[in-house]
Amino acid sequence: MLLQEERELVVEYGKKMSAAGLSTGTSGNISIYAPEHGLLAISPSGIGYFDTRPEDVVVMDLEAKIVEGTRKPSSEWALHTLFYKRKPHVRSVVHTHSMYCTTFAVLGRPLQAVHYAIAGAGAAEVPCTPYYPFGTLELAEAAVETAGKCDAVLLGNHGLVACGKDMAGAYGLALNLEYVAELQYRTLCIGTPNLLSREDMEDVSKRFQSYGQPEGGKTGY
Ligand code: 13P
Ligand code: ZN
Repeated sequence: MLLQEERELVVEYGKKMSAAGLSTGTSGNISIYAPEHGLLAISPSGIGYFDTRPEDVVVMDLEAKIVEGTRKPSSEWALHTLFYKRKPHVRSVVHTHSMYCTTFAVLGRPLQAVHYAIAGAGAAEVPCTPYYPFGTLELAEAAVETAGKCDAVLLGNHGLVACGKDMAGAYGLALNLEYVAELQYRTLCIGTPNLLSREDMEDVSKRFQSYGQPEGGKTGY
């Protein structure tokens, strides 16, 4: 089976994403890109994360040609492939409909620097696209364009996309951004959050570079 390890990771992280409440039902999707093969492993469309087996994961190239797999790939294949084409450092893409991120996506409002954890996105704000229907090339284009240098983007009236240099990184970012979004929501409910300044955020970005264990042993940020 092609990309066996990547397929197993897609299954494992799909279950994590579902268990963490980041995606209800069959919403959301995830993929991993293996540049040495020019192929990605992407979750199948409309199959529950706890029902997905490695053989259900679809292997395709960046032009969406299915190379191995009997299932229909995620309807968001264009979004996933475009992130890999346009952002060369990205090796994994996680799309969720997590509640607090989606709340701001419905408002069309960016996530802001209410907490330093937002620096994991490589920016002080996570911007939001206008609404486009799911599974469209327009949505894929808008997501990558709006994200710009940021490693995450809110999809208007839809959800969140987070990407990273590996599956753990993209998933961890999706989880941290849901935390930031919940804080932003909660603080707005009872007052006006103090936003971190540009200088504070630049400082945090530098500190993140040496946070935790040296390369290889790091599991966060
Ligand atoms: P898929 O089941 O086709 O991946 O679609 C879920 C989704 O979130 C669409 O945006
Ligand atoms: Zn979606």
